[in-house]
Amino acid sequence: MARAYGVKLLGAISKPITAKKIKEAIQLHDGRAHDEAPAQVPELSSEEIRDGLKNGEFEPFFQPKIESRTQLAKGAEALARWRNPRHRIVRPQAFIEAMEQNGLIGELTEVIVKAAARNCKVWREAGLDLSVAINLSLKTLHDVTLADRLANLVSEQGLEPQHVIFEVTETAATADLGRTLENLSRLRMKGFGLSIDDYGTGHSSMQRLTSVPFTELKIDRSFVRHAATRSSSRAVLESSLEMAQKLGIVAVVEGVESRSEWDLVRSLGCPLAQGYFIARPMGADDFLSWARMPVAASYGPALSSAKRSA
Ligand code: C2E
Ligand code: CA
Ligand code: CA
Repeated sequence: MARAYGVKLLGAISKPITAKKIKEAIQLHDGRAHDEAPAQVPELSSEEIRDGLKNGEFEPFFQPKIESRTQLAKGAEALARWRNPRHRIVRPQAFIEAMEQNGLIGELTEVIVKAAARNCKVWREAGLDLSVAINLSLKTLHDVTLADRLANLVSEQGLEPQHVIFEVTETAATADLGRTLENLSRLRMKGFGLSIDDYGTGHSSMQRLTSVPFTELKIDRSFVRHAATRSSSRAVLESSLEMAQKLGIVAVVEGVESRSEWDLVRSLGCPLAQGYFIARPMGADDFLSWARMPVAASYGPALSSAKRSA
């Protein structure tokens, strides 16, 4: 209700209210204030976006996805960034929607797929057994030539399809079923992995979801954030993990931001995790240096000590 009214809610505290509980809620607030980019989203026109694409200003950043048991990196998600001369590094919330509306999203997808595949090839040649995950917009899934085009882009970079995972949101997986299903099935038949993104936030029936040959389930970060305080979030988290296991697909918890969330993910036995607590999205060069470091050195002190105590 608070959210519907636009009130910023830090969390819920049960009685008795203590200074410690309040402090924890405030810390949560402080933590969020350190997000990569300012909350303000710059207003950018279609013209500027078009020019940016023409000038090659878009590129993927990479955020690691690690195995929670061993802390080893298993792959990275490619997240679009725009090196805009006026605004420095711009995040997707400032341009994806506009691109979906003005028909530029297909071009962005190509840029990201090409660069992501090229980088993944570099990692693998450096002896790092990593995959790369790429986000696909609902809009691009309506074009039945998509699967062939994506397969060509990836193979042009010399990368095998089994090292690429395409992420689509739950909503995308259930809209315009015919063409979407055709594209997703074709991608899977070509050997790409398929991931359900933001799981738990859309409106889908289990039956619909099982009609797509998914290989991975990404549980939305809202569930891990509230799991400690809301039994319903914890139930969704636990049952999603169980469902993934029964379906024989890999579960990933997204948005692990704190030590306590990381501990929870590990105690629940979630196979893979991704989030600021592990590492933030990084430019390609930074990511490669990060991935080359031994486990203990690549994480902040918090995670390294988690390893020691494990
Ligand atoms: P997403 O696919 O759910 O990606 C995860 C988002 O969460 C990323 O935001 C990432 O930076 C952020 N994130 C990662 N760890 C944490 C954490 O611990 N806490 C919090 N609060 N956030 C975390 P980003 O990069 O701004 O991307 C936003 C969305 O834009 C993505 O959400 C995805 O839906 C979309 N997107 C990104 N790149 C592309 C792309 O190349 N194509 C398309 N179609 N969509 C893209
Ligand atoms: Ca994603
Ligand atoms: Ca997500």
